[in-house]
Amino acid sequence: MKTISIAIDGPSGAGKSTISKTVAKELGFTYIDTGAMYRAVALYALTQGMDTKNTDGALALALDGVTIDLAYQDGAQRIYLNGSDVSEAIRTPKVSMGASDVATVPAVRLKLVELQRALAKRQNVIMDGRDIGTYVLPDADIKIYLTADVEDRAMRRFDELSAKGTEVSFDEVLEDMKKRDLNDSTRDFAPLRRAGDAALIDTTGASFAESVDKILAYIKKQL
Ligand code: C5P
Repeated sequence: MKTISIAIDGPSGAGKSTISKTVAKELGFTYIDTGAMYRAVALYALTQGMDTKNTDGALALALDGVTIDLAYQDGAQRIYLNGSDVSEAIRTPKVSMGASDVATVPAVRLKLVELQRALAKRQNVIMDGRDIGTYVLPDADIKIYLTADVEDRAMRRFDELSAKGTEVSFDEVLEDMKKRDLNDSTRDFAPLRRAGDAALIDTTGASFAESVDKILAYIKKQL
């Protein structure tokens, strides 16, 4: 069966996941949040007491002990690490930074990319991440590179964390965002960059509804 794949890449906080979730629902596609997979590996490393910055060898060896599964509840993706639902536990600032660290380890990427490609083979997907259009699904039917100014992205993330009751300052969120941008775009293996054939969509100053409308209109025109 020929399946349809839509790749959405871009830096942290550009709205990829919330927008992709809504668009997937509208189109009846499965939404795959690949960032959650890197977060689950980071959570594993942290709970094993590993230093996520300096862990290549140890983490590569430990990967055999990591099983990641996705499931869907009312259309929302849930993620399981070794059988436990970690969908909420992976959303802390510590795990965000850890994910950006473990994502530089080639063995981690290879394991997760294999899982991501298998998921795209068996169903129509909207997959969001950093390297989907460039590396995971280079033949995706539609590719979008979603971005926004770093202050705008940090403000959205700050609002999200504050709404959840996480105590964090805007400056900390902004600093983390800049560090993650640098980590993600300068790593050797599958760095964050726009694929030559990806449409560039900038959501700076746009509301959520405006961004969804713009992306849906673009996708519908292409399909
Ligand atoms: O998208 P999210 O912020 O949840 O991703 C967490 C981290 O995982 C990112 O900062 C990035 O370093 C990494 N990641 C990646 N490749 C992907 C998805 C996420 O390197 N396809």
